[in-house]
Amino acid sequence: MSDTRKDELAENLGKIKARVATAATQSGRKVEEITLVVVTKTFPVSDAQLLYELGERNFGENRNEEGSAKKELVGPDVMWHFQGQIQSKKIRHIAQWANVVHSLDSVDHARKFAEMPQAKDLKFFVQVNLEPSRVDRGGVSVAGLPDFLEEVAGLNSIDVIGLMTVAPLDIAPREAFQEVAEAKNLVQKNYPSITQLSIGMSGDFEEAIACGATHIRIGSSILGSRPPQA
Ligand SMILES: *Cc1c(COP(=O)(O)O)cnc(C)c1O
Repeated sequence: MSDTRKDELAENLGKIKARVATAATQSGRKVEEITLVVVTKTFPVSDAQLLYELGERNFGENRNEEGSAKKELVGPDVMWHFQGQIQSKKIRHIAQWANVVHSLDSVDHARKFAEMPQAKDLKFFVQVNLEPSRVDRGGVSVAGLPDFLEEVAGLNSIDVIGLMTVAPLDIAPREAFQEVAEAKNLVQKNYPSITQLSIGMSGDFEEAIACGATHIRIGSSILGSRPPQA
């Protein structure tokens, strides 16, 4: 059984990597510039272990409990990416297992992370919300980025390395990613360490690569479809 699952994961992974390579070549980019974060959320730890055996070292999780449990059971040389909505009371826990946080969108949360001894080893992406009318989606508006970054820059243990977004359903992905890429180029003038773009999921990672993605977060096209999340 687990051999079959491993074959399936290997095949899906191979297909995605071939598409990543093609997309990179087509935009004149090097495939090594692009980190594939395999989003293992909702899938069992056995899948993460198989993916580890297949050579994957970057895993994405949306929930603290699940990420923390998986970290214990997968190899030590893994980068764990937290990309879900941050709850204030979970920050202390997230800092124990995550290496990269993709969804920072509150100065208050940044302050709480800064109080943690692990803060200096964490890397952060600021999540950008391209639909300011929909605050429920989380993220800082493009217009709000300068003020947000200025406040976070005052916390010297918080290392913001890039911007992250999820393309809204009603905007063409390329347009959305272009907007975030431009926002990144703009803020990079004041914050030279902001160089990374976490954009692109199963349905739109090729457009994301064309727009400069350095991190793509891919779940369903490697692991299969997930039950709808509560
Ligand atoms: C679930 C999730 C992904 C992966 O989505 P797929 O469409 O399954 O590739 C990527 N990013 C975030 C923020 C997610 O919540």
